[in-house]
Amino acid sequence: MRLRLLATTGASVALLARQTRAAQSYWAQYGVELRGVNLAERIDTGVALGGSPAQVDDALTQAGIGKQELRQGSARAKAVVSRVVARPLVDLIRRHATQRRDEVVVVLLERIVAASSPLANRLPRLAGLTLSQSLRSTADPRGELQRALQLPDHAPVILLSARELERLDPATRRTTLAHEIGHALGLGHVNDRSNLMAQHRRSDCLPILDTTQLERLRHPH
Ligand SMILES: [Zn+2]
Repeated sequence: MRLRLLATTGASVALLARQTRAAQSYWAQYGVELRGVNLAERIDTGVALGGSPAQVDDALTQAGIGKQELRQGSARAKAVVSRVVARPLVDLIRRHATQRRDEVVVVLLERIVAASSPLANRLPRLAGLTLSQSLRSTADPRGELQRALQLPDHAPVILLSARELERLDPATRRTTLAHEIGHALGLGHVNDRSNLMAQHRRSDCLPILDTTQLERLRHPH
């Protein structure tokens, strides 16, 4: 699998290089080779999910959606809010994602969720996030979000937050990109905290993959 590395202006290239080396050595033990380690491009996108409450209000007014409809959470209101909040993410995917099946785009941002975003409280301390077609089938089975955002089909895109990576304990930080690559390869979350795909991994041991996951990797559907 080829990694294409991008970093927002100002983010530490050394941090991205350390994440990449750690992910390579993690996945090598399971026979997965991650190639392409040089920084490919600097980009000017600093966040993936943004939008301020004022921008959301403006967009709702323009679409003729009142406070009551917003409270009731109509599909139309949700679509308008999603479009505002996800605008940087959609731009990022349109500009940088490819459809190559053997490629994963890894993007180091300042943060994944902007502090001003209406999502900032709901998604605190997000260090990594992966967008892939295989995950979409579980998170968005009817393709509603995909349609609302008008996202093109794309190879997996992994977002990393420079700010949150720096705040993690060293052991969790070392396996953050490796965990996200697990998602890119089609693995979901598991409860076992000693597993790579746990949301909250134990920091006193090197997380593992179990036989079911290894089987799934060998025979992706
Ligand atoms: Zn995860």
